[in-house]
Amino acid sequence: DKTHVPIAREEKIMVLVRLRPLNEKEILANEAADWECINDTTVLYRNTLREGSTFPSAYTFDRVYRGESPTRQVYEDGPKEVALSVVKGINSSIFAYGQTSSGKTYTMTGITEFAVADIFDYIFKHEDRAFVVKFSAIEIYNEAIRDLLSPDSTPLRLRDDPEKGAVVEKTTEEILRDWNHLKDLISVCEAQRKIGETSLNQKSSRSHQIIKLTVESSAREFLGRENSATLIASVNFIDLAGSERASQALSAGSRLKEGCYINRSLLTLGTVIRKLSMGRQGHINYRDSKLTRILQPCLGGNARTAIVCTLSPARSHVEQTRNTLLFACCAK
Ligand code: ADP
Ligand code: MG
Repeated sequence: DKTHVPIAREEKIMVLVRLRPLNEKEILANEAADWECINDTTVLYRNTLREGSTFPSAYTFDRVYRGESPTRQVYEDGPKEVALSVVKGINSSIFAYGQTSSGKTYTMTGITEFAVADIFDYIFKHEDRAFVVKFSAIEIYNEAIRDLLSPDSTPLRLRDDPEKGAVVEKTTEEILRDWNHLKDLISVCEAQRKIGETSLNQKSSRSHQIIKLTVESSAREFLGRENSATLIASVNFIDLAGSERASQALSAGSRLKEGCYINRSLLTLGTVIRKLSMGRQGHINYRDSKLTRILQPCLGGNARTAIVCTLSPARSHVEQTRNTLLFACCAK
C-alpha cells in the first residue's frame, strides 16, 4: 500500500537566479561585467547605452544571488525544502538551467551534497521509521539514455509501465549508505561521463545528467505487517545541457542546417515548464522527449519543482544571459 501525499496543485515552480562572478579567463581578457544584482530580487543590465532602450534592463524574481553568495544560501532558500519533501513521500525535481560555463554543475553539485546531508540528518532524527535511500544516475545525450553507474555504454530503453509511467529499464541502483558514499558514486558518474568525451565534440555541454534519489520508508512498529504504509518518492537533481543548445536551434528557424543538432529534450522541457507555470490544465507534451517522459512523475501534478537559472555577467555572453532570463521569467 503506497501512500500518496497530495500538495496544493496551484503551487508555483520556484525560480532562483544566480549570477556567477567573472572568471579568471574573462578578467584576463578584460571582459566587462554588464550584469549586476542590485538587491535580493533584481538583476540589472548596466550597459543600456550600448543596447538602447528596446529591451528591459531590470529583471525581478523571488530571489537573485550575486557571485559571492555561497551555494549554501541558494540551497537554503528553496531547493532544500523541495528536496526534503522526498522524505514525506512527495516527488520533486531541481534543475540547473543556463548556458555552458554559467555555473550549472558548480551549483547542482553543491545542492546535491547539501540535500543528501539533510536527508540523512532527517533519517537519523526519525528512528520511528525505517528508511532506504537509493541512488541512480543517467545521462541523456542526443536522446539516448546511458547509465552513469555502469561501464556498459549500451543505451537504456525507456518502457511505458501502466502504473509507474515511463521506466528506464536496467538502471543501476545503489543503496546509499551515507554522504561519503554519495561522493564516491558521483566520482564514478564523472568518470563514466568523461568516456567518449574527446570523440564527441563538447558532449558535456549537450548532455543532461540526472541524479535520482528514491527514498522509501515505513513505520517500524508496523514493519512487515500487512497494513504497514510505505512512503516512496524520488528527488531528481538535473544538470541540464547548455541552454545555448535550445536558442541556437530556435534561431536557426525552420530550415535547419544539415546535421544541426536540436536538443529535443531541452526544447520540450521549456514548453512543459511554461505550461505548468501558467497552471494549464489541458494537454502537456511530456511525451515529446526522453527527459520530460522520465521526469513526468516528478514534474507538475503533485510534484515540487525548483529551477536555478545560472548567468554569466560577461559582456560577450549578453545574448545568452538575456535568453536565460527570459526562460526564468516564463517559468516563474
Ligand atoms: P556549467 O556547468 O554551466 O558549464 P560550471 O559549473 O562548470 O558551468 O562553471 C564554470 C566555471 O565557473 C567553473 O570553473 C566553476 O567553478 C566556476 N563557477 C561557476 N559558478 C561560480 C560561482 N557562483 N562562484 C565561483 N565560481 C563559479
Ligand atoms: Mg557543467
